[in-house]
Amino acid sequence: MVLIKLDPQAEMKGTDGAQAVGSSAVLHRHLSEDFLVLSKSEGNYLILEDGRRVFDASGGAAVSCIGYRNKRVADAAYRQILDAPYCSTVFYTTKVQEELCRFLVDSTGGQMARAYIVNSGSEAMEAAIKLARQYFIEVKPSQPQRTRFISRRQSYHGITLGALAMGGHMYRREKFEPLLMKNVSQVSPCNESRFKAPTKTNEEYVAELAQELDEEFRKVGPETVCAFVAEPIVGAAQGCVPSVPGYFKAMKAVCDKYGALLIFDEVMCGMGRSGTLHAWQQEGVVPDIQTIGKALGGGYQPIAGLLANHKVIDGIAKGSSVFVHGHTYQGHPACCAAALEVQRIIQEESLVANVANMGRLLSQGLKGRIGNHPNVADIRGRGLFWGIEFVSDKKSSTPFPEEVHVAMVISKLGLDPKYGINVYPGAGSADGRLGDHIIISPAFNIRKEDVEWIVETVGRLVDDYFATLQ
Ligand code: PLP
Repeated sequence: MVLIKLDPQAEMKGTDGAQAVGSSAVLHRHLSEDFLVLSKSEGNYLILEDGRRVFDASGGAAVSCIGYRNKRVADAAYRQILDAPYCSTVFYTTKVQEELCRFLVDSTGGQMARAYIVNSGSEAMEAAIKLARQYFIEVKPSQPQRTRFISRRQSYHGITLGALAMGGHMYRREKFEPLLMKNVSQVSPCNESRFKAPTKTNEEYVAELAQELDEEFRKVGPETVCAFVAEPIVGAAQGCVPSVPGYFKAMKAVCDKYGALLIFDEVMCGMGRSGTLHAWQQEGVVPDIQTIGKALGGGYQPIAGLLANHKVIDGIAKGSSVFVHGHTYQGHPACCAAALEVQRIIQEESLVANVANMGRLLSQGLKGRIGNHPNVADIRGRGLFWGIEFVSDKKSSTPFPEEVHVAMVISKLGLDPKYGINVYPGAGSADGRLGDHIIISPAFNIRKEDVEWIVETVGRLVDDYFATLQ
């Protein structure tokens, strides 16, 4: 029995033709559906108005990283609201913004020069796009012809128009296609289980993708490209897919060859989620610009940001010395205070190490429990960021038809008290080449018992759901 009414079709496909009904005054994502009311969150649990307690095994959308109801974080934000709730960033800064940015810059071991704080991952990506463009105008000699970006298919970089144009999430793009920047082209993502020919070695696969990127540069005119944009571990669009070893080194070599920047989008996979503070620390590659988000503030305040390296910052410093970009609420003091406290807790409690340790148990557990399930195509990820991809036929890797909405239905079934688990659903690609997936991305402070419970509960959920399809 699924206890909520939300129409799975609506989330996956949109609600064209649906009647707008319901008593809410909120412009929800689905106008014709009732939404669950969250009355409290505590530790790893979401407590719903109807009394249900749901274990949040995905931290929302990979956001919650120290669990909920942390008094230290609440106190830090509260104190900052009393001291200085808002700060216009034209002339002023705050101690908390300075400290947070110092922490972020230092966390890169001197690779990055400055950090910039905004309120969402999409804003961070917009800022990254503009910073890259501005760098090429300011650098000497100026290269104003660099107006293009190359990103990857089956990717997601945010929902605002610039960020959406960078991404390859077809469902989120398709209605807005005519509004999107035309100066973005896309190459293949790196997805070993889906797109690597079984006869090829990893080295051959990397060489093939590097060749494709090189050809794309030459096709659009290498002197016109600002940057190549990629998620080190693809989140919402594919379900936690890391690249094969050597891939990003090869991509960076192509960028270097043509003088373009490398932008990593670590909004979902960064700030400890992958088992190192920055996902690029496992790639042997440092980006020129990096976006961060979700686990920066762990959901306590809306906060995201970007980091830029010395090359980019020095280029602009020696030019106009002004980044022509800004938001009313950038560097928001209460958001910085909350994020700083979240990051202190992560450091003090060695939670990134716990992510790596618990991540190993989680991956072994999931693979052992459902790796051989006939509808599970792949279990992949890093740290506490794991995706489970579903197919109707394992031998041929055939995804379920879109209208079955496998991931959405499984996620909703998880909310039944029989399971009491929150997992994050994602649809397969519009071109039918990826199966639906769910993401398991719990808080960084989970314990062995929590991992065992997640594995067993996800196992039951998958077994029970697919049994209903027989
Ligand atoms: N980039 C990536 C990789 C994301 O996963 C997301 C959100 O899921 C974004 C950017 C956009 O972040 P936000 O939803 O905070 O605007």
